Amino acid sequence: MSFTYSASRDELVEYDKQHLWHPFTQMKEWTEGSPLLIARGEGNCLVDVDGKRYLDGVSSLWANVHGHGRTEINEAIVSQLKDLAHSTLLGLSHPSAALLAHRLAELTPGDLRWAFYSESGSTAVEIAIKMAFQYWQNLGRKEKTRFMSLREGYHGDTIGAVSVGGIDLFHQVYGPLLFNGIKAPCPYRYCQENDIPLERGTERLAAEIEALMKAYADETAAFILEPLVQGAGGILPFPPGLLKRIEELCRRHDVLLIADEVAVGFGRTGTMFACEQESVVPDFMCLGKGITGGYLPLAATMTTQRIYDGFWGDYQELKTFFHGHTYTGNPLACAAALASLDLFQTDKTIENLPPKIARIEAGLDRLAEGEHVGDVRQRGMMAGVELVLDRAGNTAYPVEERIGHKVCMAVREHGVILRNLGDAIVLMPLLSLTIEELDRIFDALENAIRDVCG
Ligand SMILES: *Cc1c(COP(=O)(O)O)cnc(C)c1O
Repeated sequence: MSFTYSASRDELVEYDKQHLWHPFTQMKEWTEGSPLLIARGEGNCLVDVDGKRYLDGVSSLWANVHGHGRTEINEAIVSQLKDLAHSTLLGLSHPSAALLAHRLAELTPGDLRWAFYSESGSTAVEIAIKMAFQYWQNLGRKEKTRFMSLREGYHGDTIGAVSVGGIDLFHQVYGPLLFNGIKAPCPYRYCQENDIPLERGTERLAAEIEALMKAYADETAAFILEPLVQGAGGILPFPPGLLKRIEELCRRHDVLLIADEVAVGFGRTGTMFACEQESVVPDFMCLGKGITGGYLPLAATMTTQRIYDGFWGDYQELKTFFHGHTYTGNPLACAAALASLDLFQTDKTIENLPPKIARIEAGLDRLAEGEHVGDVRQRGMMAGVELVLDRAGNTAYPVEERIGHKVCMAVREHGVILRNLGDAIVLMPLLSLTIEELDRIFDALENAIRDVCG
């Protein structure tokens, strides 16, 4: 059974261009183009209204994990729907929310055992920021009000999340609305700028961050970062060991650690959570994107008993966490998340990653020989390919060329969906993609670069 529309294809395009304002999109450019309308998802492919199939090379914006239309997830949603679509967690509970909280507590590292739900990565971050802030207020440490974060970090688009972000463009536009935090260098860019090989950058970066801790720890509530890979900054990996060093510095200086695993969580770096790779247990772990297998909007801010205890008391002490959304812990989304976690086990999703990760590495090596390919970066199933005008001189394309965008449009002609971040092409394949499908993505990208860059 498939969904039928009460409008023709041309009418749908018209309605889109007349009424639908797209995210992160210059609508002038959009209106001049012809929108690709995705009608269906089938396994590792997206299918447009004309029946043309595309491999999903960015996991539908880094969210989808096991492929589209998986019966296990679909049936879990339908079966939940027959019981209850939505109620509320304000004053009530429901079985799927409780079950999922229990599963997440078992799955996340160390003593992370409390799940606070919301609907998006941005809100998972807002909640961690507010909890960290209020934790110190509740303890009487009123001066700990600031946040430390990394340049090129991305934590979402709501005002608090942008405040702790480090992408200059967003800071320029919304600057006057943002709270002022303390910014540490972007690890990857710092190594590049100082000509240090990434593997050897850990000590100097740790020293930079330690200096900030010494200067500002007393007024700092928490350090927030994307563990192991800064995603939206352009797929920028950390030097090995740096995450662990930051954790140690946070502990020594009494600063809470917020790990934003919204992008890297649920297998993207090769382990279930990125923090596991350096045995890091943060005070907060923000989960989103892949938590439902990419099917429905859900996020969770995981935290520890220590933080939870900071909010414990009689009502009149006003230590309560005063926060919650209408759709917090939506049952359909929780049911999808439970089914996705089951699939991690039955599909052996994580166990099957190493050969795929190796294949991506090989594909990147091949691409890197191209004249218009500069820096290539990979961590697990996340990769970035920087396009350059001239490799020898490492000269960038002029911004107005929109070269990354053009290459992604050309990739579609070869049956693959990719998305760029500026001049970096992002590869964020579904964890369920086969080796053969990975090869097709690399072939498509190689051809598209040739089509566009010559
Ligand atoms: C995508 C992302 C967010 C924001 O998630 P939304 O669901 O888009 O609000 C936050 N942090 C990181 C690291 C992300 O990649």
